[in-house]
Amino acid sequence: MQALDTQIDAIVRRVMEQLEQPKPSLNGSPQYRGVFASIDTAMDAVHLAQQRYYRISIAKRKAIIQAIRNVGIESAQKMAQMVVQETGMGRVADKVLKHLLVSEKTPGPEFLNPDAYVGDDGLMIEECAPFGTILSITPVTNPTATIINNTISMLSAGNTVFFAPHPGAIKSSLTMIDLINEAIENAGGPPNLIVSLSQASIETVGQLMTHPGIALLSVTGGTPVVDVALRSGKRAIGAAAGNPPVLVDDTADPEKAARDIVAGHSFDNNMPCTSEKEVVVTAGIADRLLEAFTHANALVLDPKLLPQLEAVTLNEKRNGPNRFYIGKNACAILSEMGIQADEELRTIVVEVDKDHPFARHEMMMPVLAVVRVKDFAEAVEVAVELEEGLHHSAIIHSSNIYHMSEFGKAINTTIFVKNAPSFAGLGWGGEGYTSFTIAGRTGEGMTTCRTFTRFRRCSLVGAFSAV
Ligand code: NAD
Repeated sequence: MQALDTQIDAIVRRVMEQLEQPKPSLNGSPQYRGVFASIDTAMDAVHLAQQRYYRISIAKRKAIIQAIRNVGIESAQKMAQMVVQETGMGRVADKVLKHLLVSEKTPGPEFLNPDAYVGDDGLMIEECAPFGTILSITPVTNPTATIINNTISMLSAGNTVFFAPHPGAIKSSLTMIDLINEAIENAGGPPNLIVSLSQASIETVGQLMTHPGIALLSVTGGTPVVDVALRSGKRAIGAAAGNPPVLVDDTADPEKAARDIVAGHSFDNNMPCTSEKEVVVTAGIADRLLEAFTHANALVLDPKLLPQLEAVTLNEKRNGPNRFYIGKNACAILSEMGIQADEELRTIVVEVDKDHPFARHEMMMPVLAVVRVKDFAEAVEVAVELEEGLHHSAIIHSSNIYHMSEFGKAINTTIFVKNAPSFAGLGWGGEGYTSFTIAGRTGEGMTTCRTFTRFRRCSLVGAFSAV
């Protein structure tokens, strides 16, 4: 114990010396708690915080998590505005809801129940222990709500976090980290439980992925960065891209299906990885569904205008989105095509065949591909093909429970929603907890504090049970 104290004192001295040096400042903006100029300084600070955090009581840990929830709720409006301003993507009102959802419904320490086995040979308990410092890589499409979500999950499990935010959302991300650290300190927790760097770059993220001070990687982003993390040699939890299809069969209520699909698909301008990205509809209901979209604040595009929409929204290779329009409002896309529309218009619906890039690729903008097929069997086949084995999310609108079950088995996704907008699967308007780090790629599914623990077994041999 004395050796440990001496070690801690040495680290404290080193960190304090470094903290006395001028702190990084982003263009004259305020300095951020937990934000450092170099990997070494940040790593020392977060490791010191980790040593202190190991010694904190469960009651204090719970108080810290509650403080993070509170600051997530209090700052929701301000942070949503800041993110939209900095990234130029998404809708403020929808981002406010995301902040509230993660603050309220991300599970906390109460989720970490130990397992106990009692018998003739005594007692064995298995407990959820922290890994240490986790590297959390976060996306530009959902920067600050992911930071709140992962902070609650990872700290609830007793870990500390080294955040690597997307450079396109650095100011908002560092502001969120600052607010959370302030809330933790006000709740009596140690400083620097979550840290980051003042400058974000792909190179430093690469160094962090293999840094010996990092115990576990958690990546929330596109498939390429998850692939890089999986090659790092460290254990990685990979929450990668999705291309969620929504299947509508002849037995669905077309008006309700259209309303739900537009609500889920256009939420935050289609940036959530879970949002409806394309509709596969059976022939018997297709025309009624397209008509219903016009009553659901969507514009059903005249097929003659498809080439113009493609020219604006696809990249030059036609194998993905024109990144400039990711997360933009539908009216901004239409305006580029010379069509005036209201800011409140939620999306542009367009009928295409199953091989069209709008159906094949994650567009992350309010453009909804509709693919017409002859019957339910073909709908399942096409939807499975479009999901491409990502194991992410899928939705069905149907009143036939056998169809629901058959599609659910065939598509095999982490999230499967029936007769509701996709966000019901995130616990908003649907039951259950939430997570914005959905590890379909590596199989953990909706991550919680349990995901960020290692299991430790403790065995006591001899009579123990009082029964
Ligand atoms: P992105 O892959 O461009 O970036 C994600 C993060 O990875 C950023 O912090 C970025 O700086 C970092 N990064 C990218 N390439 C890297 C590399 N080669 N080395 C090291 N770091 C690298 O994605 P984005 O545009 O920020 O976010 C959108 C993507 O994230 C979409 O594909 C979306 O589906 C996905 N996403 C998935 C989930 C999920 O839970 N499964 C949640 C949100 C977003």
